[in-house]
Amino acid sequence: MSIISLSGVQKHFGDYHALRGIDLEIAGGEFFSLLGPSGCGKTTLLRVIAGFEDVSEGTVLLSGRDMEGVPANRRPTNMVFQSYAIFPHLSVAENVGFGLRRAAMSRGEKAAAVEEALGMVGLAGYGARKANALSGGQRQRVALARALILKPKVLLLDEPLSALDKKLREQMQAELRRLQRSVGITFILVTHDQEEALIMSDRIAVMFEGRIAQLADPQTLYRRPVSRQVAQFIGMMSFLPGRIAGAEVTVAGLGRASVEDDQCPAGRADGDVSVGIRPELLSLLAPGEDTDRQLAHGAVTERTYYGDMTYYDVALDGTDAEVTISMKNLPGRAVLERGDAARVAWDARSLVIFP
Ligand code: ATP
Repeated sequence: MSIISLSGVQKHFGDYHALRGIDLEIAGGEFFSLLGPSGCGKTTLLRVIAGFEDVSEGTVLLSGRDMEGVPANRRPTNMVFQSYAIFPHLSVAENVGFGLRRAAMSRGEKAAAVEEALGMVGLAGYGARKANALSGGQRQRVALARALILKPKVLLLDEPLSALDKKLREQMQAELRRLQRSVGITFILVTHDQEEALIMSDRIAVMFEGRIAQLADPQTLYRRPVSRQVAQFIGMMSFLPGRIAGAEVTVAGLGRASVEDDQCPAGRADGDVSVGIRPELLSLLAPGEDTDRQLAHGAVTERTYYGDMTYYDVALDGTDAEVTISMKNLPGRAVLERGDAARVAWDARSLVIFP
């Protein structure tokens, strides 16, 4: 059974229509992410689930129970905020135990619960420290422990890692994922960082302008995005004009290829289409190199070095369209310069077709 079930959820702020018909089922134990650009409504959706916002229309069920009129503190959810919101003058243990202050537990039981929660987030033994003496990453862990100690069925995380620097953020992403697996509770993460969502989630809802544009597991979202908008939000994709006739697509600059239905996530019909391809699914051949793959020709217009990878923009012969190609920087691999002729290897199965 779904632990969270939303149907027909609409949210208006005065004239502003922030959520425009959200239907969503989230299973117990899932790591679920709401991903989208700033202002798309993901925080509003999280706050609707938490009970910090009423819905204008629609229903919110948690564990099968209608949440209409149920305040945030009576819901089986707990929220971890972007700005950690911990009390700097209190100790770590006091911060973590804050939610238990009215619980019918003995002092010893509370102390044990605090120590258990600190252990979960890798801060065992830190209880006596002052919160303001902690690093950013440690504060974030205190905020997590404070939420986990209440044993919520659902933990709601609003951009919890956005204040951390890149290295620490990557480390905390792995830790959060491990923690979620070990405690087994449902995590719902709000993020605008597509890489973070792909790394951490079982499933992701991509939102634009108050609607869910696509809901899928990370692989499907990346490989078979339902629109150009989703494709460009989740990584990089080049688009070429094309035309579908029956079983075949003709792609400007590439040539002809057969098309399977799964390559048309938004549906398939004869006529003009836009054909998408990811940079890592194209390769530049070295001079003299042979290939079994299909071959296209063009010229390098730009080269961008990223350390482990080089990205090439290539203008394909016979079209104004360009494609971006990423190549791993391996020892001995030839580097092409701007203006060099390019031979591009590609595969029919890598193409994604949009109406
Ligand atoms: P961000 O990543 O920037 O936080 P978001 O996707 O989380 O963006 P929301 O915070 O859900 O976006 O906001 C969605 C829209 O609703 C925004 O245009 C915002 O200005 C508007 N909005 C949110 N809360 C209110 C409010 N209390 N009153 C009026 N408008 C609001």
